[in-house]
Amino acid sequence: MSRASAEINLSAIADNLKFIKSKTNAQVLAVVKADAYGHGLLPVARAAQDAGADWLGTALLEEAITLRNGGITKPIIAWLTPVGEDFKAAINLDIDLSISSTELLNEIVLAGKSVKKIPRVHIEVDTGMSRGGVGDDWQIFLEKLSISAKNNEINIVGIWSHFARADEPDEGMNKEQLNVFEDRINSAAAAGIKAELIHIANSAASLTSKAAHKSIIRWGIGLYGLSPDINNLGDSKSLYLKPAMRLKAKLHLVKAVKAGVSVGYGGTAAAKSDTKLGVVTLGYADGVPRNANNLAGVFVDGKRAPLIGRVSMDQFVVDLGINSLAKTGDEVIVFGDGSSGEYTIDEWAKASGTINYEIVTRIGPRVPRIYPRE
Ligand SMILES: *Cc1c(COP(=O)(O)O)cnc(C)c1O
Repeated sequence: MSRASAEINLSAIADNLKFIKSKTNAQVLAVVKADAYGHGLLPVARAAQDAGADWLGTALLEEAITLRNGGITKPIIAWLTPVGEDFKAAINLDIDLSISSTELLNEIVLAGKSVKKIPRVHIEVDTGMSRGGVGDDWQIFLEKLSISAKNNEINIVGIWSHFARADEPDEGMNKEQLNVFEDRINSAAAAGIKAELIHIANSAASLTSKAAHKSIIRWGIGLYGLSPDINNLGDSKSLYLKPAMRLKAKLHLVKAVKAGVSVGYGGTAAAKSDTKLGVVTLGYADGVPRNANNLAGVFVDGKRAPLIGRVSMDQFVVDLGINSLAKTGDEVIVFGDGSSGEYTIDEWAKASGTINYEIVTRIGPRVPRIYPRE
């Protein structure tokens, strides 16, 4: 093995897709933005498509273009495309676009005319999150939209929105957002716009609210076997999900030290007793959070060795314990599904004051993704 690698279990990805398929009558869109949450865009998209995903979704247009050029045949949506993107390429490649402003509408209409093809679009409405989507100027926007629709300048395939608090199933805001969503869909219909598909559910809503499933669910973190919120919804295991990423590295060095020596930049930690330290070949430049504490670490020599001191750019140090048999050159598991006793992605998230989403998406391009066959 090289210095470090992220092993991606594509059959876990397939199982996580099939699991949610079995729980819904809606179509399932596999969310593969951000390099498939760090798992590798094309291999994950192909595995999801083969396992029955009806749609693929990305944030960026270039990700969607990579999918189409990489042989993905299912419908693809790119939903975060600022004005100025290459919409002609998108339309030529049958990539569905999302529209949330008049500026974007105008630009996509023009791009369609210039390639002589009617763009397929999904209208994003803001139902309370105050992030993406058409907001209070909905009626004004709707007038322009209905003119474009009547003139066959666009094909309105979908109307969609996004939840702010779906990981808190009892939160009243979810119902309010659904009500606003219905309202927007009805007013669009009154203006002569009837979208074939409506969608609002992310993983959390897919797992907790049948009422939110609508025509398509957008299955993101769940596809990777991770819980949208371990505190409110439980961990991967309790949700029947299989974490797909296993991060490995090596011990660059093992050394014995005396009690009391300080470890790492800033001298933020010291050895509590005589012990052995292991220097691990991954750092914050690879996406290991600099502020991770000793609730995370690595698994080596059949045991957990907690982090000690600050994570550096290319390396971090773990406390192996005085009796450890680990030696220079040994492979370590930084995180995995926990089945052999290793730290999980959720434990790393907790130790770093963040969420599992950020741990996996930040694993950087210096770490090769590998796809072992079973
Ligand atoms: C990222 C994203 C999702 C997926 O969210 P998860 O919580 O990972 O399921 C769904 N919809 C949109 C618009 C997104 O940006």
